[in-house]
Amino acid sequence: MSSNICTRFAPSPTGFLHVGGLRTALYNYLFARNHAGKMILRIEDTDRARFVPGATESLIRTLRVMGIDYDEGPDKPGSSGPYLQSERTDIYQQHAEQLINQGDAYYCFCTPERLEQIRKQQESSNQQPKYDGYCRNLTTSEISHNLESGKPYVIRLKMPLQGESRFTDLIREEVVVQNELIDDQILIKSDGFPTYHLANVIDDHLMGISHVIRGEEWLLSVPKHLRLYQAFEWKPPAMAHLPLLLNPDKSKLSKRQGDVAVEEFLEKGYLPEALNNFVALLGWNPGDNQEIYTLPQLIEKFSLERVNKSGAVFDIQKLNWLNGQYLRQLTPQDRGKFLLPHLVKAGFDTTDHARTEKIIDAVYKRLSFGAQMGTEAVIFYSDNLVISEEQARMVLVKPTSKQVLAHFLKKLDSVNEVNVDIFRNIMKEVQQETGISKEDLWMPIRVALTGVTHGPDLPVVIEIFGKEKISRFVSQALAF
Ligand code: GLU
Repeated sequence: MSSNICTRFAPSPTGFLHVGGLRTALYNYLFARNHAGKMILRIEDTDRARFVPGATESLIRTLRVMGIDYDEGPDKPGSSGPYLQSERTDIYQQHAEQLINQGDAYYCFCTPERLEQIRKQQESSNQQPKYDGYCRNLTTSEISHNLESGKPYVIRLKMPLQGESRFTDLIREEVVVQNELIDDQILIKSDGFPTYHLANVIDDHLMGISHVIRGEEWLLSVPKHLRLYQAFEWKPPAMAHLPLLLNPDKSKLSKRQGDVAVEEFLEKGYLPEALNNFVALLGWNPGDNQEIYTLPQLIEKFSLERVNKSGAVFDIQKLNWLNGQYLRQLTPQDRGKFLLPHLVKAGFDTTDHARTEKIIDAVYKRLSFGAQMGTEAVIFYSDNLVISEEQARMVLVKPTSKQVLAHFLKKLDSVNEVNVDIFRNIMKEVQQETGISKEDLWMPIRVALTGVTHGPDLPVVIEIFGKEKISRFVSQALAF
């Protein structure tokens, strides 16, 4: 690598990758590549209570599908491993001991009951919940006595009690936090595992991370992290905290809303390229009016300076529009390959390849995402005309519509087969004989064949249906 820039994506394996996580991963990737630097995937799995089996594998799989091609990680050995924090516990333990010896951290033997009691007291007097520092001042003999008698303990960071912590965030600029508001953070839990804060700081340093790019929810942890860097006499990395993702009503987009899982979007038939394009624009403003960006273009244009401070609204309509654009740009072969599984999933018979291809061709322009094949293509697979649209019903009850349909059927009887030319001829004759034209002529036929007022192009429908099905549907429409 030709630069010293190194970023990392550090998810906790607690479930699927959600769109917020995808954005963090993507920005880390774009920033690293833009600077010819490298990106590491580190799995922060020290919170054993929240660990979900299989989540690490699923994160890796999703990042791979999304084309976020980090340089080192659990599946890509490099010089900074291991990349699973659960395999690095010795390192954290040694560093915690160093902090104790230096007087920057201390053993805390407080029982959960005592902590609960403090919390309740603070709550009832409207104070911010915070450890009261009871064990900061234990004597050496009290500590050895407690350790020897096997009392459970945690190790806490000794935060300054006064003053303020100041730092510069690449996105938020100057941030100031009063030290008295910051808790004496637990660094090592009673199960011997480190907390996020200790492991994160040690690993960012040991792995040579130059830029920490992550969600805004971590902004207020920075003073604790800076205290750790100071205690270890390490240079802290540059920090960039990304704006929140919001629902259209400006509430926080929740991970628990299920439907923000990237895997779910992929399953519904969103293209990775479209998702990346969409997610890149959530909070980053490329400074021009272009909407469609390939991954190489995003790499070239990306900069942290153009990331906004304020929350970014997740607008599903925009994603749908973008994905539709990408679907239309696919070659016919790629489109077929991408959309076929959605026909299969909808339970349609796709054994006739030529017919399937025509059906895909007939509807793809109308799709926002693949799973819509289930509804958009249903007319090609149903034996009977189904009309669920009110507007379509209104068309069929018009007297002129009855006239058109009746004439159309009569003409149809006189031909052996139907192709596009024959169909056009019939329509012309119906127009001449009934004197009905334009919308009143075409709409009843459109509704009779597709069940809706806006559907696929009629010539394509005609070819796929064939005479018998056309006749059946038009008769059913006439009887409606
Ligand atoms: N493990 C943290 C998370 O899941 C990482 C935060 C960070 O990037 O420092 O969000």
